[in-house]
Amino acid sequence: MSFTTTGEHEAIRKAVRDFGEEELKPVAREHDKEQIYPEDLRRTAADLDFVAPHIPEEYGGAGMDMLARCIVTEELWRADPGLGSAIGSAGFGSSMILKYGDEWMKEEWLTRIAAGESASCSCISEPAHGSNVAGIETHAEKDGDEWVLNGNKMWITNGTVADVGVVMAKTTRDAGHKGITAFLVPTDLDGFQPTKIDNKLGIRASDLAEVVIDDVRIPEENVIGEVDKGFYQLMDFFASGRTGVAAQAVGAAQGAFDAALDYAGEREQFDQKIGEFQAIRHKLAEMATDIEAARSLVYRAAANVEQENPDQAAKFASMAKLFASEHAVDVADEALQVFGGAGYVSDHPAERYYRDARITKIYEGTSEIQKNIIADRLL
Ligand SMILES: Cc1cc2nc3c(=O)[nH]c(=O)nc-3n(C[C@H](O)[C@H](O)[C@H](O)COP(=O)(O)OP(=O)(O)OC[C@H]3O[C@@H](n4cnc5c(N)ncnc54)[C@H](O)[C@@H]3O)c2cc1C
Repeated sequence: MSFTTTGEHEAIRKAVRDFGEEELKPVAREHDKEQIYPEDLRRTAADLDFVAPHIPEEYGGAGMDMLARCIVTEELWRADPGLGSAIGSAGFGSSMILKYGDEWMKEEWLTRIAAGESASCSCISEPAHGSNVAGIETHAEKDGDEWVLNGNKMWITNGTVADVGVVMAKTTRDAGHKGITAFLVPTDLDGFQPTKIDNKLGIRASDLAEVVIDDVRIPEENVIGEVDKGFYQLMDFFASGRTGVAAQAVGAAQGAFDAALDYAGEREQFDQKIGEFQAIRHKLAEMATDIEAARSLVYRAAANVEQENPDQAAKFASMAKLFASEHAVDVADEALQVFGGAGYVSDHPAERYYRDARITKIYEGTSEIQKNIIADRLL
């Protein structure tokens, strides 16, 4: 199995990098400071096929393979993780619609997401249930030819900007993971009530919300896939989701490293560039090595996802996410150190990468959960 990039992959990388340099970097600090969700940039990115690149061409997307999707994510995050997150997560949950949704759902929603007209959200986590997805309490009761949803979702990316959500709810109570169903929920329905969470450490251009679901009535044709099979359906996307977060981590680390490398070549102390001190050179060498090792694991995970090799994909996706996220935080920390005092304030991007990288150790399964998954496949 090859996990090296082709000329086409590198052309995609260059296109996203150009977009990041020209459109994202110049406005990154302002979007972070003011917590502005970049709706216009999302539309521009959609024109370039960088929003939801997994959506097939027949629904207006680019139909990119998993490795290309990782490269898009990596380069968006390299330019700026906050904006990269907002753009890259615009189609969050849409893989479920693509694989398990009815044709009308794809025609109505995938086309709008790919065009940049709409964003989607994936509503799984709850205040009392994060790592343990099977424990969710949001529930759906059948009433004639409708389902009535009630519950409380927490930490929902795009919660206040999405036009549609994929909501996981219990349809058979006390059945754990065997009683969960996925519902397609337009967010303008009565009873869907998001509240923005505006005190995040990082990725502050990205939208995050708590969502109260209060007697939301859904037609029965809005069930995605099969009743009570939602958890199994969700499992299909864990490997690609985690590989994607690992690519985010590589991008954040690369962005932090690039900034530190430039600064090391400019800043002088004791009548020489700081980049000539062995201490700084060794820092840069270790950072570059960590990034390349993480990138290799990400591309290997991507190749396994692409080959639909579920056991290997699950293992390598968790390894990639664990390694890339832990090292991204370390690399961003060292990058900040290269800047000295200048790294501690927002005049330079070092502190932003440091704050932004941290999320990659938490969402799509924490580092501790990744270790559990890896160990389960070893022992
Ligand atoms: C910015 C952001 C965006 C997010 N976006 C979304 C989204 O769009 N949709 C969505 O549904 N969710 C989203 N999440 C939620 C995210 O997936 C959860 O925060 C994550 O899964 C952890 O759940 P938790 O916060 O409830 O922590 P908990 O599950 O309460 O974990 C707390 C601690 O206990 C540890 N722990 C828990 N169980 C175990 C175990 N079995 N073994 C060892 N250690 C364990 C964890 O590793 C962690 O250190 C987002 C979160 C954030 C912060």
